[in-house]
Amino acid sequence: MAGEDARNVSHLSSRADTLRILNYLKSESPARAVIIGGGYIGMEIAEALRARGLDVTLVHRYRLPMAGLEQETREQILEELVSHDIHFVSNASVESLVQDKQGKIRHAVTTRGSFDCDLVILSLGVEPNVELAGGARSGSASRAGSSPMSGSKRARMACWPPGLLRGKKYYHGEAHVPSARNGGEQGGLGCRRKRGGGHATFKGAIRAIAVKVFGLEVAQVGLSSEEARRPSFR
Ligand SMILES: Cc1cc2nc3c(=O)[nH]c(=O)nc-3n(C[C@H](O)[C@H](O)[C@H](O)COP(=O)(O)OP(=O)(O)OC[C@H]3O[C@@H](n4cnc5c(N)ncnc54)[C@H](O)[C@@H]3O)c2cc1C
Repeated sequence: MAGEDARNVSHLSSRADTLRILNYLKSESPARAVIIGGGYIGMEIAEALRARGLDVTLVHRYRLPMAGLEQETREQILEELVSHDIHFVSNASVESLVQDKQGKIRHAVTTRGSFDCDLVILSLGVEPNVELAGGARSGSASRAGSSPMSGSKRARMACWPPGLLRGKKYYHGEAHVPSARNGGEQGGLGCRRKRGGGHATFKGAIRAIAVKVFGLEVAQVGLSSEEARRPSFR
């Protein structure tokens, strides 16, 4: 997105991002934040910024936050956000970030209006970065005489673990939530295979999520009923 590199725009995917945001809050005392993306990280940062007294606008591409949870839960989350003065802009996507002469984003222009801001947080979800693993595996696969593409494909499949519901394995992009547990387990497994030379495999995962949104504690395991009805999950 143009403007993503401005100094008052941050992703939230590492400790360095967190420290940068904290430093910015201390040094610049921003009053208005726009958060783009209403997943669980969007929820957590909305609450954290609100607790520090910022006016928070949360721009989300769907009507309700937290896709993948039950509809009624998502309605409750929306109520909770609104009751804590989060300005939730539903069914909107960001078209541009308008920068001032000092290199700061001052307006987030969306399909549903323009919002003034002193700070922008991008919590838009993640795609697996498989370059390093794919490259390494490609190298070893080539040496073993197999297709150079197979390493990259295998790395991607490891990042999107198969679901295990209904006794089936499927690579469910939409129902996927990258989690520390999956990452850690697959990393450990890779080490054991490397050191022990064995054939340990990661059998898959069932999505589990827990998040606090102001006064609500929300948890879900498995698919939502809406997801379970989709042909791809049957
Ligand atoms: C704000 C936030 C909250 C989260 N909350 C939760 C939660 O409550 N529960 C949960 O389960 N998960 C949570 N997650 C998700 C979880 O952190 C990730 O799914 C998990 O860390 C992924 O693990 P990983 O090992 O695949 O990748 P990472 O943890 O991103 O690790 C990749 C590492 O590789 C390093 N690296 C990249 N390229 C190279 C290179 N070329 N050479 C050397 N090193 C390289 C990176 O620096 C990094 O240290 C959260 C994530 C965020 C951002």
